[in-house]
Amino acid sequence: MNTYPAHWLITLLLPIFSIAMGCQSASDKLPEVVVDRSECAKCRMLISDARFVGLLQTDEYLMFDDLGCMLNYQLKTAPQEIRGTWVRDYYSDTWIAIKDAVFYRRDDIVTPMGYGYIGASRLNPEPAATTKAVRLENAAALQEDFTQRFLTAK
Ligand SMILES: [Zn+2]
Repeated sequence: MNTYPAHWLITLLLPIFSIAMGCQSASDKLPEVVVDRSECAKCRMLISDARFVGLLQTDEYLMFDDLGCMLNYQLKTAPQEIRGTWVRDYYSDTWIAIKDAVFYRRDDIVTPMGYGYIGASRLNPEPAATTKAVRLENAAALQEDFTQRFLTAK
């Protein structure tokens, strides 16, 4: 597998996560996901399943129906504009700060926009349901996987 072309991009993207992960203090008053009412800030679809949702804090809270939509949005946003990042814990359907999350890529899970990523708390033991998943240890690994799958020219 030739991964070299993605390296420059990953080098650019890693600071985004470093900054986002350092600013998780205001996590007490996060917006609720209202299924079929909340809208994805990227693709404008209504959120149909709260377990796949991501959340960015800029001047406002931006919700995304699929972690892939959130990653796409982050690519077009200056890192200093992002004050916090959260994802839903797939198994408890609650917000977790991205620094407390691990990610899984599962080909047998259809996420709302088809990116196939789920987030889960790293504090819990690995759920049995994820044994066939590719485990992505942190946000940087998630970003790298996303970059290689969707942004690297084949
Ligand atoms: Zn979306």
